[in-house]
Amino acid sequence: MHRQHVASDALFERIKHSIAGGESSYARLAEGPGFCMARGEGSHIFDVDGNEYIDWCIGYGPLIMGHRHPRVIAAVVEQLEKRGSMYTFPHELDAEVGEKMVRAVPGLELVRFAMSGTEATLAAMRLARAYTGKQKILKFEGHYHGWADEHFVSYHPDDETGGDEAEPKVLLTAGCPQAIADTLVIASWHRPEYVEAAIRKHKHELAAVLCEPQMCNCGIVPVEPEWLHWLRRITAENDILLIFDEVMTGFRLALGGAQGYYGVTPDISCFSKALGAGFPVAAFGGSREVMALEAANEVVHGGTYTAMPMNLAASNVVLGEMIEHEETFYPRLHEVGNRVVRGLQRAADENGVRAKVLGLGPLWQIIFLRDGAPDDPIIDNSRTMLAVVDTERFGIFQSEMLDRGIYFHPGAFERWFASSAHTDDDIETTIVAAHEAMAVVAKAAPVPAV
Ligand code: PMP
Repeated sequence: MHRQHVASDALFERIKHSIAGGESSYARLAEGPGFCMARGEGSHIFDVDGNEYIDWCIGYGPLIMGHRHPRVIAAVVEQLEKRGSMYTFPHELDAEVGEKMVRAVPGLELVRFAMSGTEATLAAMRLARAYTGKQKILKFEGHYHGWADEHFVSYHPDDETGGDEAEPKVLLTAGCPQAIADTLVIASWHRPEYVEAAIRKHKHELAAVLCEPQMCNCGIVPVEPEWLHWLRRITAENDILLIFDEVMTGFRLALGGAQGYYGVTPDISCFSKALGAGFPVAAFGGSREVMALEAANEVVHGGTYTAMPMNLAASNVVLGEMIEHEETFYPRLHEVGNRVVRGLQRAADENGVRAKVLGLGPLWQIIFLRDGAPDDPIIDNSRTMLAVVDTERFGIFQSEMLDRGIYFHPGAFERWFASSAHTDDDIETTIVAAHEAMAVVAKAAPVPAV
């Protein structure tokens, strides 16, 4: 029953002649592309061989209303046809989208637009340094904020590579200046005793604590809400800003993002993905006081393409939908996620496969437990995640699901996303496929214990 990928394979070979590696993002190249896309429609995608898939990756998260949503597309086309793609002047959509963001998110009084999550988080780090007059940023192991020198650091270290959990090593990527190591303090997520020690040691140098309020980039690691409250308290007590990178969680967990969901307001927050509904929109913002430096142009943030009306036209539609239908939009995203989570877990359990589905409503992930790992391991940061995951069985499951027309990210530490376009049928079809795929995983040879 294997699906043919003949046209995909040929196209990818051709792409590789001009595009290094065949993909323009390390993140997409890492696990292999699987197939080349022809088009997307709602919750489904079609490859160049004519295969159709239910898409649980939705462009790594942005397509929260699905592919080609008619109202998003209509707004963008109208903008293009009647008014143009870009202005580099203030325009009405600045106000429309800005006002909606400020209304929706507790921590936002003023925002600035950017083009990508990477840029938004970099701008937030610079703003925190300018505001506090301090140099260092405390970043957590396993958290992802983009691919730049300043923050693509200590992404997935394990016990061997990361050093002591109390004072993890700063692990830089190839080509990153060594000097960056002096600008960061690396810490372990969900470890108050170590973080408190790091803050005491570096408080006079620390401008900010930067985190994903809910870890989504080393699998889904459920956050302890009290820990977020604790981070808020300890940063405030030590004159350190708290930056929430809500690129994944923003406008997704809830209208107010993770800060709204957990009731913890950071000083600066960063958004992208769901904010653009498939168009490149990102933003960072905070209180009037912190953002005053941006308003006065005392700290530099810019970009030719920031606040492009073509992109903000899409944001305006998606934010309008979320605000107007908050009472149904978010419960539905959570329902879709919760039903798939329960279905996947049942599929694993009934087939005797040791897997755990870690869910947060609209974002979830399935992990397969290594032989030797406990049945119910504590997974509270990237190290405890990396220590138990069996990537081989995940790979079997993923490829069996792909063959059955179910697409989710082929990386064992990536997550699935719900959109408002996913239907009950998509959920049922996915669960039926999961039962079949789990039966195949159940027969796979044991993976040696580590
Ligand atoms: N922060 C988080 C939490 C992310 O998940 C990502 C991307 N997955 C980024 C920042 C970087 O965003 P971008 O890829 O748009 O640069």
